[in-house]
Amino acid sequence: MVKLKSLLMVLLLLASSQTYSASPADNIPLQNQLYAMGKLSIPERSQDSFLNKLQTILNNDLDPHSEALANILVADYYIHTNDPLRAREFLNIATPLVNTVDKASLYQEFNYVLMLVLRTEGKIKEAKRTADALYRDVRESWPDNKLSDIVLERAYINSYMYRYQEAFELMELALSHAYESDDPFQLVETYNVFSILYGALNDYPSAIDYLKKSIEIMEANPKFTQNTYLYVNLADSYRAAEDFEQADAYLDKSFQIAKDTGDISLRAYAHQVKGRLLIDQKNYEAALNHILTSQELHKEVGEELFSFEIHTELATIYLELGQLDKANQHLVIAKEYAVQLGSQDTHYINRLESQLAFKSGNFEQAYELLNESYTQYRKQFNDNLTYVSNLSREQLDQERLVFENKLLEQENILNAQYVQESRKYSYILWVLILLLLLVVCIALWIMLRYRSVARTNHRMAYTDNLTKLPNRRHVFRTLELQHRSSGQTRKPYSVILFDIDFFKSINDRFGHNVGDRVIQATRNICEAILRDSDTVGRIGGEEFLILLPDTGIKEAYSIAERLREYFECYNFDDLAPGLTVTSSFGVTEYMPDDETLDLVINRADRLLYKAKNEGRNQVMASFA
Ligand code: GH3
Ligand code: MG
Ligand code: MG
Repeated sequence: MVKLKSLLMVLLLLASSQTYSASPADNIPLQNQLYAMGKLSIPERSQDSFLNKLQTILNNDLDPHSEALANILVADYYIHTNDPLRAREFLNIATPLVNTVDKASLYQEFNYVLMLVLRTEGKIKEAKRTADALYRDVRESWPDNKLSDIVLERAYINSYMYRYQEAFELMELALSHAYESDDPFQLVETYNVFSILYGALNDYPSAIDYLKKSIEIMEANPKFTQNTYLYVNLADSYRAAEDFEQADAYLDKSFQIAKDTGDISLRAYAHQVKGRLLIDQKNYEAALNHILTSQELHKEVGEELFSFEIHTELATIYLELGQLDKANQHLVIAKEYAVQLGSQDTHYINRLESQLAFKSGNFEQAYELLNESYTQYRKQFNDNLTYVSNLSREQLDQERLVFENKLLEQENILNAQYVQESRKYSYILWVLILLLLLVVCIALWIMLRYRSVARTNHRMAYTDNLTKLPNRRHVFRTLELQHRSSGQTRKPYSVILFDIDFFKSINDRFGHNVGDRVIQATRNICEAILRDSDTVGRIGGEEFLILLPDTGIKEAYSIAERLREYFECYNFDDLAPGLTVTSSFGVTEYMPDDETLDLVINRADRLLYKAKNEGRNQVMASFA
């Protein structure tokens, strides 16, 4: 019914605005009548008859001043009946008219409604500016009921900005205006705001007391004091004081009233408090439903003021349900609203962020955030301490202790985490050190083994297996070096080539084994005769080569002769009884025109061949 009427009215207004230029002259009595209507009590301004009267007036062709006033008062009606969207519409209609008329009294009426609309829209900073300026303008001229209303509004706005000191100071003023006004509704409202402030400072018993007082006055004057929010406020205070039964009882009552009156705003608020109650009772799924419903309903009526709370509540619920992404999303939005509200205090947000960090395993960040939250909380606590009762002080102390305990608990968890981490790291470190030692040992072992293998390989490559004397490759290498150095220094050297005589027959008569032992004995024979600087090597089956550095042919010959004799006389009885062995020798000396080593070797070879041919067991030398 109300909706239909106002729709009609909008159409009429649109029509009238077109003929605006030919507006009639000022209707002073009408203007005075409208100003007087604006000074009525809030319950009177919230009645349908008030709206009807304005609609009747607006149906006439009005002067701009009256038209502006009438529209402002329609907005006044809507803001007090919880329809901020429509209130804004009528303020918008009034705006150009107010500017055209340009009268202080008209601006004041406009700003009064604007202040309320801005607050409901959540534009707290603008609302505060408008309210503070308006009070300065009208405090000498407006009646006490309206002044009390403005001051309460200012206190309420300050509480939203966590400016409790300023809020409590204003409450003194509000109370005196309320007493002066003789308007029971203003008293109801004053006690209501007192309870809101005490509640904000965690003094729930005081909050409950003030609300009960407020409700008592309201119920004694039902006609002029309807404020159904009081029951929800009381439910919320009981919830905060952990009297869940009373909280639920007052919520039931609120839901019933909301249903009877079709008050969407009230329903939205009741759902929100029900959600909070369920959060306190740790029934997060159910809480989520109520908060989401509340959000929908608030949106439906264009109320933004509760968005900060709604989003922090959603963040809390999602945190508890372990949906950290969603919790984070709502925290981000809540922070934006906190800025919009001009909130000086973000301790609650920080606390939630700390919980989020904690649940995500970022203990250090969690600790920092909680610490920051605590610092802010303490600052707020100290700032407001002097303005609350002793009872509040106790409550705050209690809260502070809980907070500090939580901080300590978090710190302990963090420390334990550190200890655990460092233990893990020291264990890893030890394992790494052991691994490193193992690797070093393996490397050393491989190195040593490689060296011994290389040595063996080297020995095997240059040593004859049977006699352990230098092999053919080795002895020729040494000889090559000697030959080259003698080519440069002209120092002499000699070579003895010898071969055991009739070795085949030794093998035949005594066996290969004995043959081998004879070859081995050759080494002993050579070592007995030769000097340390001489080199002897096995270059064939039973054929040997001796290098004699710095030795001329004569000396070489005599060495060969001694060897020959030694062979002849050597006692091989322990190998085979009756075994005698002889050898034939070719001895030559390096000569300056021996360009290649082959020339020297071939000469020795030829001499050995000659010794064999001439009967064996003899030394053939190349004397110059
Ligand atoms: P000559 O006086 O002309 O040197 O007569 P010889 O029998 O020694 O003849 P030759 O040098 O041709 O033969 C060497 C023999 O030595 C041939 C081979 O069977 C034997 N022989 C070669 N190497 C070894 C060895 O390592 N051990 C043994 N037991 N016999 C070998
Ligand atoms: Mg031989
Ligand atoms: Mg031979």
